Amino acid sequence: MSINTQSFIPPKRTLMGPGPSDVDPRILQALSLPTIGHLDPLFVELMDNTKQLLQFAFQTKNALTMPISAPGSAGMEAVFVNLVEPGDKVIVCQNGVFGGRMQQNVQRCGGRAIMVQDDWGTATDLNKLEQALKEHPDAKALAFVHAETSTGVRSDAQAICALAKQYECLTIVDAVTSLGGIELAVDEWQIDAIYSGTQKCLSCVPGLSPVSFSDTAIKVIKNRQTPVQSWFLDMDLVMGYWGQGTKRAYHHTAPVNSIYALHEALLILHKEGLQTAWDRHAAMHQTLRSGLEDLGLEFVVKEQDRLPQLNMVRIPDGIDDALVRSRLLNEFDLEIGAGLGVLAGKVWRIGLMGYGANQRNVEYCVSALSQVLSS
Ligand SMILES: *Cc1c(COP(=O)(O)O)cnc(C)c1O
Repeated sequence: MSINTQSFIPPKRTLMGPGPSDVDPRILQALSLPTIGHLDPLFVELMDNTKQLLQFAFQTKNALTMPISAPGSAGMEAVFVNLVEPGDKVIVCQNGVFGGRMQQNVQRCGGRAIMVQDDWGTATDLNKLEQALKEHPDAKALAFVHAETSTGVRSDAQAICALAKQYECLTIVDAVTSLGGIELAVDEWQIDAIYSGTQKCLSCVPGLSPVSFSDTAIKVIKNRQTPVQSWFLDMDLVMGYWGQGTKRAYHHTAPVNSIYALHEALLILHKEGLQTAWDRHAAMHQTLRSGLEDLGLEFVVKEQDRLPQLNMVRIPDGIDDALVRSRLLNEFDLEIGAGLGVLAGKVWRIGLMGYGANQRNVEYCVSALSQVLSS
């Protein structure tokens, strides 16, 4: 067997799937700057700046706001392993792939997941949710996905959290695809624990998961009866490394260059402004929508529940899903997403995330799809 010794040179794709999204060249440049020590005073300063920018992006004053050194799934796991102890009851809303992963996380922590199920492609139903809260007054937390990337559905995070708080539940939110793409206000909405990802609407490289915990959540963590079963994701230990003021203790080696990249991505978002970024996603979604509808493609999700950054359209009868996607990739260097789970083969998922939510990408995608569908 011979080893392929050629360096890997990736093609220049246009990424319009469910993530990763197109990375701003400025961020790639930041990534390639010289690596410095992870306890170098200048790096520690960069960590603090990154935390402040994350507080801005999440709209929170939470002191415990930082990136976990691993992808969104690790942020999800960090939230559950820290907040859920054996025997705890957690209400989990599921309307797509990621609610199912929350359920597995609760169960692996020894907790009991009470599922509130809604059809894939619809938003979390507040009446069903209230019913579950009434039936389970002993529930410790309520977990849901703000932007369900598997279906392109936005759930009403503000209303869900308000309801959970009426029943004195901690609120756990998956904001992997929502952060930077649609309105999100951690403090105002009373979110206790939230995780996101870098490769969706922040348009950064994959591999980091910004998280934030409220003071209430920190109290719950401090009062645990059992140690967090994950050493790496134990927030008490992670805080000693990312915490403010006091001397930093070595916990793990931060992915130094990836933090450069995240910092740059957050600077770009800060410069643009949150409202402007949300408005841009909404405007590009409307342009894409009219282009796709002109091609005869129909949206699956009800208009008021659609995510601008993830557009799910039905594949027309008689069209070969895999062939269309491979032609887009091979002839146009364009990636769009396939359907997941029950929607596999039935839908396409077209992402308009962060840097990729621009007029050029919209036009390119509509024109490429038009050519592939007509020949
Ligand atoms: C992408 C995604 C995740 C997982 O993030 P990874 O970085 O792939 O681990 C979790 N939740 C949602 C809603 C996502 O879109």
